[in-house]
Amino acid sequence: MAPRVVVVSLASDFGCQVQMTNIEDDLLDVLGLIDLSYWQLASSGHMPAEYDVAIVEGAVTTEEHVELLKRIRSVADVVMVIGACAVTGGIPAMAGEGDLEQRFAYVYGTDGANVARGRISPGPVKRIIGVDYEVPGCPIDTAEFLRVLSHALQGLANRLPQEPLCAICKTKENVCLFDKGQICLGMFTRTGCGARCVSLGRPCTGCRGLAADANVESAMKILAEKGYDIDEVTERLAVFNTREEVFSR
Ligand code: SF4
Ligand code: SF4
Repeated sequence: MAPRVVVVSLASDFGCQVQMTNIEDDLLDVLGLIDLSYWQLASSGHMPAEYDVAIVEGAVTTEEHVELLKRIRSVADVVMVIGACAVTGGIPAMAGEGDLEQRFAYVYGTDGANVARGRISPGPVKRIIGVDYEVPGCPIDTAEFLRVLSHALQGLANRLPQEPLCAICKTKENVCLFDKGQICLGMFTRTGCGARCVSLGRPCTGCRGLAADANVESAMKILAEKGYDIDEVTERLAVFNTREEVFSR
C-alpha cells in the first residue's frame, strides 16, 4: 500500500505549499508513489484520521496548533516540516519577542486581551513535538523537498548540511559582500541553497536558519572588531531565527 500522506499548514502564507505545486515535471511521479490523502491548500475535504506521513508547513502560534501537532505526532510514523516558519519559527517568531499580551494590546488596543486568547508565543514545530525530517528555506527549494521526501519515504537519514554558507560562496568565487560594505549573514547560515542570493549580489538574510557549524560568538566578535553594528546584525539574524537560538550558541 502506498504511504498515506497529509499536508497541513499552521501559521504561514502557504508559500511553501505553492512551491510544491511548482514541482511540475516531477509532481506526477511523486503522486504515483504516495497516496496524497489530504493537502490543505488543494483539498476541500477533511483531514483523515489515519495517515503515515505528515508534512507540516508554518509556525505554531495557537493552542489549537499545539493540539493538532500532538495529534499528528500520535498518528504519523513520519513528521516532515517544510519552510522557515516550521523549521525555525521564521518571520512569525519575530512576534515571540517580549510580552505577547502587550503586543496584542499595542495593535488592538482594549481588544488586545480578547484577540490574544488561545494564542501562544510563535515558534517552530520542534518546540512542541519531535520532527523527523526538515526542509529549511523561505521558500523551500523544490529539488531539496523532493530529495528529503524521498528519504522520508525510504526511511533514510535526514542529513542537513552542517557548514555555513560562506563555505559554498567561496567555491562560487563570489566577491564577499562585506568587501562591498554590506552585511551578509552567510557566516551564520546553514548552506544547501547553493549560495543563491549572494551569487546574485544580494546579502544572505539567513532564511535556512543557523548552521550547526556556525561559530556565532567568534563571528560577532570579529564583526564588532571590524566596526559593524552588532545590534543591527542581531536584528537581521532575528528575522529567521529566534534570539534564544542565536544566543544559546
Ligand atoms: S558574501 Fe556572504 S556568504 Fe559570501 S563569503 Fe561573504 S559573508 Fe560569506
Ligand atoms: S543565500 Fe541565504 S537568504 Fe538566500 S536562499 Fe540561501 S540561505 Fe536563504
